[in-house]
Amino acid sequence: MAGRIREEDIAEVREKAKIDEVVGDYVTLRPAGGGSLKGLCPFHDEKSPSFNVNPARAFYHCFGCGEGGDVIAFVMKIDGLGFTEAVERLADKVGVTLRREDGDTRPERPRGPQRSRLVEANRVAQEFYAAALGTPDAVAGRQFLGERGFDQTAAEQFGIGFAPRDGESLLRHLRQRRFTDEESVAAGLVAMGRSAYDRFRGRLLWPIRDSSGDTIGFGARRIFDDDRIEAKYLNTPETSLYKKSQVLYGIDLARREMARTSKAVVVEGYTDVMACHLSGVGTAVATCGTAFGDDHARVLRRFLNDHAEFPGEVIFTFDGDAAGQKAALRAFGGDQNFVSQTYVAVEPTGLDPCDLRLQQGDSAVRELIARRQPLYRFVLANVVKKYDLDRAEGRVGAVREAATLVHSSRDTAVVASSFAREIASLTGMDPAEVQVEVRRAAVRRPSDARPPGRPEAGAPPAALHQRLPDLRDPRFVLERETLKLVVQEPASVARTAQDLGANDFTHPTYRAVWELVEKNGGLAAADADWAGRLRDHAGDQAVIAALSALAVEPVPSKKGADDAFVANTVYRLQELTAQRRIAEVKSRLQRTNPVEHTTEYNRMFGELTALEQHRRQLRDLALGAL
Ligand code: ZN
Repeated sequence: MAGRIREEDIAEVREKAKIDEVVGDYVTLRPAGGGSLKGLCPFHDEKSPSFNVNPARAFYHCFGCGEGGDVIAFVMKIDGLGFTEAVERLADKVGVTLRREDGDTRPERPRGPQRSRLVEANRVAQEFYAAALGTPDAVAGRQFLGERGFDQTAAEQFGIGFAPRDGESLLRHLRQRRFTDEESVAAGLVAMGRSAYDRFRGRLLWPIRDSSGDTIGFGARRIFDDDRIEAKYLNTPETSLYKKSQVLYGIDLARREMARTSKAVVVEGYTDVMACHLSGVGTAVATCGTAFGDDHARVLRRFLNDHAEFPGEVIFTFDGDAAGQKAALRAFGGDQNFVSQTYVAVEPTGLDPCDLRLQQGDSAVRELIARRQPLYRFVLANVVKKYDLDRAEGRVGAVREAATLVHSSRDTAVVASSFAREIASLTGMDPAEVQVEVRRAAVRRPSDARPPGRPEAGAPPAALHQRLPDLRDPRFVLERETLKLVVQEPASVARTAQDLGANDFTHPTYRAVWELVEKNGGLAAADADWAGRLRDHAGDQAVIAALSALAVEPVPSKKGADDAFVANTVYRLQELTAQRRIAEVKSRLQRTNPVEHTTEYNRMFGELTALEQHRRQLRDLALGAL
């Protein structure tokens, strides 16, 4: 069939296909002086642009990875095409008719259909589907759009179409337009079972276009209840045109605005992209049937011209629900591909941009995007939410887990200090302590990240030692000393300090020991066999082991456990409890806006003053006891 393309035609393609325009379909270029243009290299990961295009010499070169050549070489490289295919593609684009050398006898290429044929088939299909949207069969599709606030003009602007239900209308149309079944299948439009049939049947269709505006595939929504395919959305399968890991719906509409503003908005669906663009957020794109991944990030970066000296901004809209938070975390994990500052825009009512526009109008969509917050702040807030910040253990746990997140992002140096400040303000912890945790998290293995002293429920006996307090941990020293006295000198403790309580014990096992004491009648019920009785009533292995130790360990006093020593020990423990409560109220105060919650704030302030006074009294009592 096809022989070698004539040299003069290749020369004409080379001349007519302007390299800055062709490259510009893939990379945002900015003037770099001397008539040269510069952008981020699409062939290697870089933070500052070293990819140069010289339109006058019709040549590109990357000083980073060494790639370079003319416009044909660029298309071959970026689209993975052979020389002939690249020439055909460019010829198609600039309107050059290629002629073949006569008498060329080289064997036919063993490849599938040419790219230009697949693009053409998709273009023909898009027009066919768009026309079908006006037919009586498509009333459900038009209704779907109308209910979401999209009129006919919007449908036309986005090229929305309808796939007829019979399952072979498009196939027949493509055959009529002289596409072979092989081409239609390779274009992803037709599937092959025992015979060929339309891939999309009875669905509303969004054409998905590449950055240059060529339709490369479709997203298809279920609109009929009797649709045999349950999936709400179907997409074109992987073809040589359609790569779902890179495809971004709306990129053709958004790219110029993205380059101009260095901003991109990533939404979750086709209707959200439409709603954004119609509301004046012209930078919106969406992934198609797949999560936002590293390849998508790379595509965005090229159009954002995102690099170290000039970081772009990527704004994700997520639902506030669990799935949205998960998506945010995933995006966060892939954050290293962005120099961009990454933001999230979360609508408190949980409305997506499409519903938001429908219910509250265009300005609400613009405001949603304007209210963006840094992604790390959103992710941190979700982590911190899991912990009980009214308890010291909870705050420590929150800080530890949040700190580990700092190091899952490569932009550590940039964000570490903002992170630490953010964690401190979310948890009400001292910023200096948080800094320490952030540094610690850098060297700690992920498996060590679980906060200490939090035994798992139903832990196997092998883990018993883990449920016993670490005797080197100073936090538990006074709890242990007090419980030793409770077990060994109950009468003395009862005389000096009646108001010991479960709250004075933070270690779960120690707290369980105290609760056992209360269950057995309290200190007043202590008799000669007190320790033995407690042990008999302890069901838990860890509590039994702790009781044994508490019963036999010597009391660290030269004079023995006299009332003064007991009082000093118990008051010091209670002072710790008071300190803990003070820290809790302080942290709540820090998290409370005095302007918005004046009453609450003042009440806590009063509580804080009272607690401080109580703590001083306990200190005086402890010192006075000796
Ligand atoms: Zn390069």
